[in-house]
Amino acid sequence: MTAEPVIDRQDSPTAAPPTVRASLSPSRAADFKTCPLLYRFRSIDRLPERPTVEQARGTLVHAVLERLFDLPAAARTPRSAGDLVAPQWDRLVTEQPELATLFAEGDATGPAEFLRSAAALLEGYFAVEDPRRLEPAEREALISAVVDEELLIRGYLDRLDVAPDGALRVVDYKTGGAPREAFEARALFQLKFYALVLWRTRGVVPRVLRLLYLKDAEVCDYAPDAEELLRFERTVVALWQAIEQATERQDFRPRPSRLCDWCAHQALCPSFGGTPPPFPAAGAGDPLTDARSRPAVPGADE
Ligand code: SF4
Repeated sequence: MTAEPVIDRQDSPTAAPPTVRASLSPSRAADFKTCPLLYRFRSIDRLPERPTVEQARGTLVHAVLERLFDLPAAARTPRSAGDLVAPQWDRLVTEQPELATLFAEGDATGPAEFLRSAAALLEGYFAVEDPRRLEPAEREALISAVVDEELLIRGYLDRLDVAPDGALRVVDYKTGGAPREAFEARALFQLKFYALVLWRTRGVVPRVLRLLYLKDAEVCDYAPDAEELLRFERTVVALWQAIEQATERQDFRPRPSRLCDWCAHQALCPSFGGTPPPFPAAGAGDPLTDARSRPAVPGADE
């Protein structure tokens, strides 16, 4: 969701209620949970991360799936989805020229293979869902809620389905090739985050949180309940307090794990013999204005 597919899904500034003094996206919260130093690199130092082919593919597939639902229901076929791949890629490259640098100049095979691999992921999608039978209520929607009276939590959900009886289903497309077990907890954390926002804004606990793993053509459903979301809300608030404390102390420690294999900042990480840059001056990367949602650990949010 992401992912945050990241490459073209930056949080736009939202008008926050006057009491709000901080905001947090699921990706940034998950960064801190995964590794405080990773959170610092991304949210405070705001170190650039070159998009990877895997992230770009995730972004492309998300874009195609979003546009697919613009078509009349009967036209949402595998062929239509395949026809959207190249035009959507052209659009993304026009909007984000840095994507063109993923392939060497004159390399005709790389881009062609890239588009083929995106089409293959779409086949995985059609193996688990028939979009002709679906009418999503929301796609690529920015949702937000205030918790603990002053923390704005927000994020983009890939899709929200609403049943005739009002039941909500949150759907997140996963396109990454990273081992699922390494990222499943992070993916579920992200979905619970959305569930909490929806519960707080609509008063309804989503009936299903659904992860669609396109590479494996698998569906993973999870049914949260209000008590669990209440506990989760406390976890998010505690996480934010821990981030504030770490910021005050300028103390973000590395927490090595399997996810380091997907971290773009190993060269600056003490766990890999590196040295982080000096802590930015106050306000330079003020985490209280966590206004951007940037690519998460590659493979995690795709
Ligand atoms: S390499 Fe690992 S420990 Fe170091 S910042 Fe990245 S995720 Fe954290």
